[in-house]
Amino acid sequence: MPDLVQVEEGTKIIPGANTIITSIDKLVNWGRSSSVWPMTFGLACCAIEMMATGSSHYDFDRFGVVFRASPRQSDVIILAGTVTKKMAPVVRRVYDQMPEPRYVIAMGSCACSGGIFDTYAVVQGADSFLPVDVYIPGCPPRPEALMEGVMKLQEKIKKEHFRWSPWR
Ligand code: SF4
Repeated sequence: MPDLVQVEEGTKIIPGANTIITSIDKLVNWGRSSSVWPMTFGLACCAIEMMATGSSHYDFDRFGVVFRASPRQSDVIILAGTVTKKMAPVVRRVYDQMPEPRYVIAMGSCACSGGIFDTYAVVQGADSFLPVDVYIPGCPPRPEALMEGVMKLQEKIKKEHFRWSPWR
């Protein structure tokens, strides 16, 4: 039996045998974190930066991030912009239509905390109606900041344990 070579923590290969030995957690998390598909959904000015991030100059596709036009095919909803109290139930409905596991990124000061709009009409933080995984501050955050936020989400997904199992 040839020696096992550790390529990273929890993953070993058998040289020359075209074989990798790892845990199912690692395999599932690797696949999931390499194909984070966001729901195509914008709320206000931050959405323009989100669109710029998906354009050819920034090329989100290289992270495995491909925008989808249906919540049924999406893994993450990026709350890009001001969430009004009128819009919050609609956002929640879109989120509820996404299959599990699903993730939420709050992009910009408005989505994180209401931002400058401390008014009766604006939700003062998306965490009041959705489980937010990553917060990205800024008004608006630049595409680089959104990329950083997605990479933080990918790190988080890679640390998940047993989330692929119906018995979790
Ligand atoms: S954080 Fe700034 S750029 Fe983003 S939606 Fe609010 S006001 Fe617009």
